[in-house]
Amino acid sequence: MKIDSVQEERYLRNDYRTLLRACKPIVTELDKKLIRKAFNFALDAHKDTRRKSGELFIFHPLAVAIIVAREIGLGATSIICSLLHDAVEDTAVSLEDIEAIFGKKVAKIIDGLTKISGFIGNTKSIQAENFRKILLTMSEDVRVILIKLADRLHNMRTLDAVKKESQLKIASETLELFAPLAHRLGLYSIKSELEDLSLKYTEPLIYHEIDTKIKLNQSQMNRFVKSFMKPIQQQLDKAGLKYEVLARYKSAYSIYKKMKTRNIDFNQIFDLFAVRIIIENSADEKTDCWRIYSIITDFYKPNPERLRDWLSTPKVNGYESLHTTVMSYSGKWVEVQIRSRRMDDIAEKGYAAHWKYKERDDKGDTNLDEWIKSVGEMLRAQDGTATEFFDEFKMNLFSREVYIFTPQGELKVLPMGATALDFAFDIHTHIGLKCIGAKVNNKLVPLSQVLKTGDQVEIITSNKQKPKPDWLDYVITAKAKSRIKQSLKNERKEKANKGKELISTKLKLINSQDKNLDIDKLIEYFQLPSSFEFYYNVGINRISISDINHAFKLLKIGDTLKSSSNKKTDISERKTEIIILGDGETETDLHLAKCCNPIPGDEIFGYITVGEGILIHRTNCPVGIKLMSNYGYRIIKASWQKKVTKNEEYFPVGIRFRGIDNLGILSSITKIISEQFEVNMRMINASSKDGAFEGSLVVNIYNTEHLDHLIEKIKEVDGIETVTRFHVDESID
Ligand code: MN
Repeated sequence: MKIDSVQEERYLRNDYRTLLRACKPIVTELDKKLIRKAFNFALDAHKDTRRKSGELFIFHPLAVAIIVAREIGLGATSIICSLLHDAVEDTAVSLEDIEAIFGKKVAKIIDGLTKISGFIGNTKSIQAENFRKILLTMSEDVRVILIKLADRLHNMRTLDAVKKESQLKIASETLELFAPLAHRLGLYSIKSELEDLSLKYTEPLIYHEIDTKIKLNQSQMNRFVKSFMKPIQQQLDKAGLKYEVLARYKSAYSIYKKMKTRNIDFNQIFDLFAVRIIIENSADEKTDCWRIYSIITDFYKPNPERLRDWLSTPKVNGYESLHTTVMSYSGKWVEVQIRSRRMDDIAEKGYAAHWKYKERDDKGDTNLDEWIKSVGEMLRAQDGTATEFFDEFKMNLFSREVYIFTPQGELKVLPMGATALDFAFDIHTHIGLKCIGAKVNNKLVPLSQVLKTGDQVEIITSNKQKPKPDWLDYVITAKAKSRIKQSLKNERKEKANKGKELISTKLKLINSQDKNLDIDKLIEYFQLPSSFEFYYNVGINRISISDINHAFKLLKIGDTLKSSSNKKTDISERKTEIIILGDGETETDLHLAKCCNPIPGDEIFGYITVGEGILIHRTNCPVGIKLMSNYGYRIIKASWQKKVTKNEEYFPVGIRFRGIDNLGILSSITKIISEQFEVNMRMINASSKDGAFEGSLVVNIYNTEHLDHLIEKIKEVDGIETVTRFHVDESID
């Protein structure tokens, strides 16, 4: 390539003037001299060196300095460092030389930049995690990262000159590491430019296709926007507002992503472009924005679901704007963004643009310094994974707190990363302990949901809820943590107490003589460190009744005493044989509950009483139901071992009947019982009143089938209307 040195020099002067213009509002006269010095130094150091594109190398650091000044908005130190950023790595200049001329601060930044590019240049592919570590360890000063970002942007802009395989590596690295970094820093235009350029090299065909379509549609869009804006502009002018209208296509990369994730065509994307109305800055800019909104919606119907009010509550990274999507006359949805010039600057350049709008009398860049400092703190404070790093980057950058609203609109301040569960505990300990879920902005979310500023959170509670051990992983606030721990501790104690009660009941049941000795044996048998642990395991049923029975047998606990324990006489051996407990154990100290009088065939369960053996209830017994809900841990499964048949064993059952008064009724019933069923009737009584007849009887029955059959027969008696079984009361005996 033939180089026209006169022309080249002209270009160089031109670029340098651009740099000076870009940093004009930021730098002092002294700074300017230093910048000149750095430029001359770099010019000399890179003299005779050319980039792969053929141009003088100095064009690159100069371009990086322009990006740093104009697009990121950094000050003199950063501009100087940008000009010098490749000097140590690529030329004979040493870090000591830099320090001698430009001082310690500049030298330190250059050192960081040199190390980082050494690392990136020498590694085939960098994982996000490693990238984070590099940034952490090598950039003591955050300006290193920002300058590196500018460096990468210029390299991407000039990637054409690089070999194909290097292009791919650099482009995908940019997409994976640098674009997210720019995004987290709120540097939107840099982020989308990096993405578009990456797409251009990783998916050249698709990029070209989208780019061409955007260009072809440009005039069509302009025409559309012109007619769309016409009625609005008339009103805006009438209102005396100063504004600018921009219509912009979404970036090629974001269109590409939409096409890919929704699997649709370019033409099927409804929000291909957005109309932006930028008004002059003023003290009333928010009111003005809403006025414009109101004018727009006078003409076009807005979609209420797509109203985004970042005026009242700006995004955490400082983004302020009012977005609405309205239906145009041609039936096409159009997104309109309304904002002031100041808001637009911040949206484009990120937080760095803020300083421009601050008072200049306090040296001008305090806010910038603050911002730079917070980026640094953030990077150093992070020790999570790479994804977390990128996710939290932006958030932590500007605030360590989130602002959450209750359904009543009350504001709660929580630390960054707080979850719905933290919020619940923040409202009230009781609400936290009973929390089963939450609605964030009316959407049901899990307890572990991390909250964002502006979220409105409603907590859903249930009295049945109890804190779970994994809740500790869901909370970050000290209050929630300590309350959950306390509650879990109480719960463990309660469970252990239940276990203890169960064990002592069991030991009593088998007439254990030396309780303490037996418990020590059991603890040893189950290999648990303490009696508390043993009782707790019993309490939560990790050690079941059958485990314990098994242990009793093996350890011979209570064995020798069994014979003398048979003091209950009201139940026959046979009855105990026909009932199986739990998973197949038999128990001699069994009783049938009087309240419900179970008979073979009934659904039953066992209840371990204190010192009175096991009581068998029917599962539908009201007393039994109460026991189950209050002493669940003392309940034991029970079932009939076999069907009891005639002549084996009889159980008293009460039967109640109602009907119309009929003289023969009672004799018909007794006839059925004694002649057809040949069962022993233990009691019968009847009364009649106002023509209605009511009676009850107690018969000996051997199983439910037998009983059902009898009931059927009684129902057939003339005049009988209902026949039901009833619980035999103790007094009947
Ligand atoms: Mn460079």
